[in-house]
Amino acid sequence: MEFKTPDRIIMGDDIVAQLQPGFFSEYGKHALVVTGPRVGKTTMMRTLLDTLMRDEVSVTVYDGVSSEPTVAMVETGVKIYKEAGCDFVVGLGGGSPLDTCKAIAAMSVNEGDIAKYVGREIRGNLPPVICVPTTAGTGSEATKYTIITDENTGVKMLLKGEALLPRVAIVDYTFGQAAPAGVVASSGLDAMTHAIEAYLSVKAQPLTDVLALNAMRKILRFLPEAYKNPGNKRARKEMAVAALEAGICINNSSVTVIHGMSRPLGAHYHLPHGISNAILLMTCLRDLYADAEEKFEKIARHFKLLDGMMFLDQLDELVRKCDVPRLRDFGVDKQEFMDMLPKLAADAIASGSPGNAPKEYTEQEIIKLYTRIY
Ligand SMILES: [Zn+2]
Repeated sequence: MEFKTPDRIIMGDDIVAQLQPGFFSEYGKHALVVTGPRVGKTTMMRTLLDTLMRDEVSVTVYDGVSSEPTVAMVETGVKIYKEAGCDFVVGLGGGSPLDTCKAIAAMSVNEGDIAKYVGREIRGNLPPVICVPTTAGTGSEATKYTIITDENTGVKMLLKGEALLPRVAIVDYTFGQAAPAGVVASSGLDAMTHAIEAYLSVKAQPLTDVLALNAMRKILRFLPEAYKNPGNKRARKEMAVAALEAGICINNSSVTVIHGMSRPLGAHYHLPHGISNAILLMTCLRDLYADAEEKFEKIARHFKLLDGMMFLDQLDELVRKCDVPRLRDFGVDKQEFMDMLPKLAADAIASGSPGNAPKEYTEQEIIKLYTRIY
């Protein structure tokens, strides 16, 4: 086994403004800054641009990334990157801009359509990628994955490759403090799902176990506070660290059945990633319990709880405190959902993620789990 992280992880309060002079010019002369339209208008963006300009780096901005990045957005980004003569990329925002910036870097040196890389390792001598998250959740700043929606098939493609692991992750605690409450809740539950899935994964390893337990502890304690009280700086800082820890976990131990089922659900019904995970979380974990009892007991001992079931009860309470909507709240029709299940289940299995769970899943079993969440 091998344990990988970005070359550099820089963390702290107001840290982007305080990066050492010349920090960005080490990575290139012309940065493409990839972000979304909302974050692109914030003081976080201003701070980042000021620091890039201080380092005498030319900047081109691509702020057209929506909450669900598509192949077309990646292609637009690559075009802008090449036409402007950029030589490195900086992603600023939640998981979507960070995933897009990684995909742009990949496709700036690879030929053809990014969809052809599903199930294959993305390789190549990518330009440096620097990721600056503004939400505490996806951990994309520390992973070799990018999720891009193929607008032709509606599939959320999981693309991977060691080359996609960002060169630098900059976790500025002050940046996470501007996220809206709903985003804090869904991103935080995404990070919790990463920590638990990496811990239960058949690819779990000693170093990810330590980080996973750390992340779970922080999220159980601080997510409700970060959600209810945006002004609680300590809570949002702890969540930023937990999200990074959980991201490092999935980079090395992968996700399992929850993410496998969450991606088709999110793609088909346009649910935020953290929400589709949270909707599935308790159903999938209760189903996995018998096959991973020893690990649940270990988690329980770590939290000084009587048994693994008590941990699941705490988790259930956390999900409730975060006001996770139900599938029907998104206007999903029951019959339409039931008719979709064979396709959703086939896409879940095809993603490969359920194969990392400590239990073997058939399409029939995945369909049964989907049925339970409605
Ligand atoms: Zn996730």
